[in-house]
Amino acid sequence: MDIRVLGCHGSQLPGLNTTSFLLNGHLLIDAGAVANVLDIAEQRRIDQILVTHAHLDHIRDIAFLADNLCYGERDKPLTVRSTPFVLEMIHAHVFNGVIWPDFSILPSREKPVIRFKALVPGETEWVGDLQVEAIKVDHTVETVGYVVRSTEGTVIFFGDTGATEPLWERANGVDDLRAIFIETSLPDGMQEMASQTGHLTPALLKDELKKLCHPHPEVYLYHMKWDCHDVIREQIAAIGSHRIHFLTDGQFIRIDPR
Ligand SMILES: [Zn+2]
Ligand SMILES: [Zn+2]
Repeated sequence: MDIRVLGCHGSQLPGLNTTSFLLNGHLLIDAGAVANVLDIAEQRRIDQILVTHAHLDHIRDIAFLADNLCYGERDKPLTVRSTPFVLEMIHAHVFNGVIWPDFSILPSREKPVIRFKALVPGETEWVGDLQVEAIKVDHTVETVGYVVRSTEGTVIFFGDTGATEPLWERANGVDDLRAIFIETSLPDGMQEMASQTGHLTPALLKDELKKLCHPHPEVYLYHMKWDCHDVIREQIAAIGSHRIHFLTDGQFIRIDPR
C-alpha cells in the first residue's frame, strides 16, 4: 500500500497543508489539500474520498476537486463516503447551490460529478484494491476513523479525536496492524483547550497508546497547530518511543508485505 501525505497539519499557512492522505493513487482519506497539491491527471485518478468529519480543514478540497472534474471526460462520479450525517452536512452546507454548486446533480442528474454514498460504521467494504471500515471516534462533531486493509497489511486513520475507545478495541482485533495515523494537535500546556476542541496532546496520546495490546505498529502523527510544533516535538521525544514519527507534507509511506 502506498500512502502519500498531501497535507498533515492542523493549520493552513504557506508551506502547511491541512489533512489529506492519498492511498494507492485512487482513494483519499479527507480532502484538506488536494487541488493545490495534485496535478489534474492525478486528481482524475481519484475514485473515492473517505471523509472523517465535516470540519472545513478536512473537506475543503472536495469543492475544488469537484469543480476541476466537471470539465473534461470522466465516465463515473467521484464518490464521497462517510456516515449519513456527515454527508448530509457537506451536501446541505457546502454543495447547496449557494456556497458552491450542487455537483451531485451537475452537469446532469444522470451523470453527476460527485455522488454521496453512506458507509455504515462497523461494516467492511471493498474500495478498489482496499478494504475499508469506518469506526466512530470522539471529537466535537460526529467523526469516524478508518481501518484500511490491503494484502500488505492494515493501517488505521484516527481522524480528529480526543480520548476514544472503540477504534482501539477494533485495532486490537487486527492481526496485521502495520501503522496508525493519529493526531496530536496541541501541547500538554493546552490540555484544557484540547478537551474543549476534542483533540489530543502528547500526554493524552501516551495514554491512548496504552490501549493498544499489540507490540507497537509505526505511529505517525499529524494535525499539529502551527505554533505548537516545537513544543509538541519535545514532549513526544520525552515519551521515548522510536516508533512515533512526525509526518511531513509530501511524504510517501510504503507498506510492504512482511
Ligand atoms: Zn475537526
Ligand atoms: Zn481538523
